[in-house]
Amino acid sequence: MSDSALLPHRIAGLHDLATDLWWVWHREAREVFRQLDYKVWRLTAHNPVRMLRLVSPERLAEAAADPGFLALYDEALRQLEAARSGDQTWWRQRTTIGRKRPIAYFSAEFAIHQSLPIYAGGLGVLAGDHCKEASDLGLPFVGVGFMYPQGYFHQSVTADGWQEENYERIDWEDAATQRARAADGSELVIAVPLGNRTVLVSVWLVKLGGISLYLMDTNLPENAPWDRELSARLYGGDRETRVQQEIILGIGGVRVLRALGYDPAVWHLNEGHAAFVVLQRIRELLELGYSFADAHAEVRRSTVFTTHTPVPAGHDAFPFHMVETHLAGCWGGLGDHREDFLALGRYDNGSGTLFNMTALAMRSAAGVNAVSQLHGEVTREMWAPLIHELPPQDEPVKAVTNGVHLTNWLSLELNRTLDKYLPADWRARHDDPSVWDAVLDIPDEVLWETREKMRGYMYHFVRERIRERWVHENVPPARVLAGGTLLGQQALTIGFARRMTAYKRPDLIFHDPDRLARLLNDPKRPVQVVFAGKAHPADEGGKHALQGIYRRALDPRFGGRIAFVEDYDLHVAHYLVQGCDVWLNNPRKPLEASGTSGMKAAANGVLNMSIGDGWWPEGFVGGNGWLIDPAVEHADNAAQDAADADALYRLLENEVVPAFYERDAREVPLRWVQMVKQSIRTVAPRFCTRRMLKEYVERMYLPAFEASLTNK
Ligand SMILES: *Cc1c(COP(=O)(O)O)cnc(C)c1O
Repeated sequence: MSDSALLPHRIAGLHDLATDLWWVWHREAREVFRQLDYKVWRLTAHNPVRMLRLVSPERLAEAAADPGFLALYDEALRQLEAARSGDQTWWRQRTTIGRKRPIAYFSAEFAIHQSLPIYAGGLGVLAGDHCKEASDLGLPFVGVGFMYPQGYFHQSVTADGWQEENYERIDWEDAATQRARAADGSELVIAVPLGNRTVLVSVWLVKLGGISLYLMDTNLPENAPWDRELSARLYGGDRETRVQQEIILGIGGVRVLRALGYDPAVWHLNEGHAAFVVLQRIRELLELGYSFADAHAEVRRSTVFTTHTPVPAGHDAFPFHMVETHLAGCWGGLGDHREDFLALGRYDNGSGTLFNMTALAMRSAAGVNAVSQLHGEVTREMWAPLIHELPPQDEPVKAVTNGVHLTNWLSLELNRTLDKYLPADWRARHDDPSVWDAVLDIPDEVLWETREKMRGYMYHFVRERIRERWVHENVPPARVLAGGTLLGQQALTIGFARRMTAYKRPDLIFHDPDRLARLLNDPKRPVQVVFAGKAHPADEGGKHALQGIYRRALDPRFGGRIAFVEDYDLHVAHYLVQGCDVWLNNPRKPLEASGTSGMKAAANGVLNMSIGDGWWPEGFVGGNGWLIDPAVEHADNAAQDAADADALYRLLENEVVPAFYERDAREVPLRWVQMVKQSIRTVAPRFCTRRMLKEYVERMYLPAFEASLTNK
């Protein structure tokens, strides 16, 4: 980690600014680092901690005497202090509840910045955006998760399109993390009983403005080699590893908070991975003399649970013997209640009775929510047998539709345009739909120019990325071609970037290759498709889909108009969701619970073309994108794929391509620009984390606060 002692006194606060990841979503703070040394900023892939070790002392001295730089610097530090204090935030206005007893938010992954690779996809991005917004709104909030020292894998692809997974160790010198410390100042280490041994867990603190994130790590020399590996990688191991990770997340996570002196009023389990929190909290209450039933009821009142997928594999379930083996050391405090506890997870999902983490969480949370309206319906149906046995409630499963952290996902270019035409305080009020009406008044040619610049940045980014690999990694020419060398800067660009997995049908657009080739190769109206996404290391189907796309990218009949961008992450995502013209989403309905990449795209004026799944039935209002509507539902997957693909081609042929290439005398596609305006105006205020988190507060957190605070 950088050392503030080496910085000129006047700008010694740079250390603080670099080591609090609050800078990630604040333009003023980013501007400080950009201006400090733009070359080094680029060289370090936007890592200020590393930057401060590389910037020359001369440049630092110069900056410390530059009034322009100092004004930026002072303003960024002032804002950081304000964020930390939590004063003058929405939470302060909304409630008299203080900040002493926070909301504890548990998640297996958090996507804060690409320099901290502890996320795999949508779930992590949502958790990261949730935390950023919690800081902005001034919520009393603390996050708990894992520090995976080897993170999630970096993807590379062989010349034949087969995904390879490379794990790199996080370089602690360059990471914006520090060891969490106990009250006496020593580095915090906690013990978690696992099987018949004890595993030690160290704790990292990641500062995020108004909130803190604590990340657990088992890589301590005192642990056995296999235990040191437990937190090495995200989703890297087998079932045995997974259940042990989840025991550490749940039981260890509660212990971490206790050791740090936290007494949370609300416990939010983001997905079932964290459901063992319930076990540890019940144990605490049993030790205070509660009966099992009372302890469970008490825990339930203050627990909130969000379920994120209807895909069965997304709901962890373990054989009972496996759970019992690894929890062996935990039963002590549970006395005779082992069977009672195991019953909380018992669930027959149709292929046998297992200990199901979602069932445990649903039975143990008074507030349960799904992540879109449609997902709410699907969840109520999917878990109907379990919901029937719960205490009656108005809304056993609520729907709180996801959102994205808007100011973090909007492009710099679009920000500049919005600054000119929206009310001056638009950022502070961005979840107010009326703020966005002014988008309609942006002159068409101005907005189109903005959009063209955004496509240009994406185009250059994709090509430079593969050029780098060609020059420095000596990748074979085929990979350079597949990486996007033949893309055009002006062509209508369709983006598809998300996890490569069967239900998302990444290869649907290739259903009729000839029809697609005709579309792409139209000499006057060319179309190109940019793909990106990792397949889970164990997902053979996902890897085959990726390989299929890769081979198409290399097939001359598609004219070099298919590209696959390797190693999708937050950084790549920013360019793609900002720079494409159309964002394609074609999951097998109803398996996409929400999806968030389409929200990021739509708010940037990238038009969604999507199946009516997840958030899109709420987002699509006509004229702000397209609904891929096959008008029929087939029980048979192959028949559904054919119908969906046909609907997709018809939209492209009859509506999308004509609207994009129909230009006025100034070369502006007027019809298209109208849709861009409607996309931004209708999606930005509604599908942002500001709206989402306020909804969590009103519908999930405040009821739990009430139950929790009145009961003590
Ligand atoms: C937004 C995002 C996702 C989620 O994409 P979906 O379309 O919702 O599946 C996954 N990965 C990254 C890096 C993202 O930024």
